Amino acid sequence: MNQFAASVRPATLWAATAAAGPATGALPAGEYHADVLVIGAGYTGLSTALAAAERGADVMLLEAAEIGSGGSGSNNGQVIPCLTRADPDAVVAACGADKGEALVALIRDSAQFTFDLIRRHGIDCDAVQNGWLQPAHTPGRVARISMPRFQQWQRRGAPVELLDADQVAELTGSRYWHGGWRNPTGGHVNPLALARGLARAAMGAGARVHTRSPVAGMERAGDAWRVRTEAASVMARHVVIATNAYGMNRVWPGLDRSWVPRRSYQMASAPLPEAVRRSILPTDNAMSDTHGDLYFCRFDRHGRLITGGALILDHDFEARLKRRIGERLALVFPQIGRPAFDYVWHGLLSMTMDDLPHVHALAEGVITWVGCNGRGVALGVALGPVLADAALGAAPRDLPLPLTRLGRVPAHLIAARVAPWMLALSRWRDLQP
Ligand SMILES: Cc1cc2nc3c(=O)[nH]c(=O)nc-3n(C[C@H](O)[C@H](O)[C@H](O)COP(=O)(O)OP(=O)(O)OC[C@H]3O[C@@H](n4cnc5c(N)ncnc54)[C@H](O)[C@@H]3O)c2cc1C
Repeated sequence: MNQFAASVRPATLWAATAAAGPATGALPAGEYHADVLVIGAGYTGLSTALAAAERGADVMLLEAAEIGSGGSGSNNGQVIPCLTRADPDAVVAACGADKGEALVALIRDSAQFTFDLIRRHGIDCDAVQNGWLQPAHTPGRVARISMPRFQQWQRRGAPVELLDADQVAELTGSRYWHGGWRNPTGGHVNPLALARGLARAAMGAGARVHTRSPVAGMERAGDAWRVRTEAASVMARHVVIATNAYGMNRVWPGLDRSWVPRRSYQMASAPLPEAVRRSILPTDNAMSDTHGDLYFCRFDRHGRLITGGALILDHDFEARLKRRIGERLALVFPQIGRPAFDYVWHGLLSMTMDDLPHVHALAEGVITWVGCNGRGVALGVALGPVLADAALGAAPRDLPLPLTRLGRVPAHLIAARVAPWMLALSRWRDLQP
């Protein structure tokens, strides 16, 4: 049996701890109409449905499995107002001054937007807005990553702070790092609870949300689109495809060749003793450092350290990760000893060749985004109103990001096979000063 098939995916910590979601069910057989049809119940689709419904549109959302079944229910829950690799200057260089700066502003404000939305809708998701921290693992990374990243965000008005080694040690509880930077608007959430809360908010605003309703295809029908499930069809003038790394070719041919999938593993420790808990990330920041083979962690409300990592080969992943990440934690936080892990799970990321997110106008009335590149909690939520505006007829020039045409990763099959091996290169680079 395929160890990654949806039916055998390991249980996540979040499924065990998230507040229940709203009651939803499959779309019954029949013919339906909507102004805006959204495909996918992750942050992007749910935030789009919420925004479109709040603007008065008649919205339907179809989800193949359950709310938060994709990346939105399996991620680390770090709310991060920046991209993984592409810094603001690179975004502007790639997208042009106007659209590039607008996209940078959207990313800069994305964490604040997410926490404001959580508060406005009273979403019960253990939201902690105590900041997001990026420590640098070598002195060279302080000079080459922390400094320019901090300066570029500061120039764009982000409330960022540059940190020396002592400040990082105080915020992390570890002397492992050499400096870094922090954005206080970031933080962490229970990611599945956020998705479920967004679904509740969207439904409260009038959106019809149907789970267990995989879209099997869509075709043009007059001036609308007919979107088909196995038993039903929905006519809609506007379609937002929010399937991201869980998208399948059958929704829009070629969409899944515009990015490469990468698997990320997550792990939750057993609750730590209170004294150890208080000595690590004492102010409850979320943290992801400068390693290419990323070191990242945050706490949940029960004092579990939620961390994880990546692997080149997937076999025997649970035992290998427990060993590998256990050793890493003991190195970085010696006070933790060798923690027991209660949960190990995984999910897929959509990676683009230029490290940038892309919003594609696929055809008249059809829009999508791909390329979270590992940072899609805040961005996915913040994209909702933008995609809703686009779906409801905003002119491309009025959108705070460029609309691009669907591209294709060259030699996609080979690129997808090679992608996990890039981790070896990242690990080698991580060793350089
Ligand atoms: C393990 C992991 C850790 C991560 N950690 C972080 C983090 O800490 N911080 C951060 O910012 N980002 C993180 N990310 C990235 C972030 O989780 C994603 O970018 C974000 O959740 C994407 O949301 P989305 O709504 O665009 O897509 P998804 O949440 O993936 O939703 C897509 C949905 O589409 C549905 N779907 C697919 N095909 C169909 C179909 N044919 N019909 C109907 N529905 C369909 C899927 O079932 C799924 O529910 C992580 C991702 C993973 C996988």
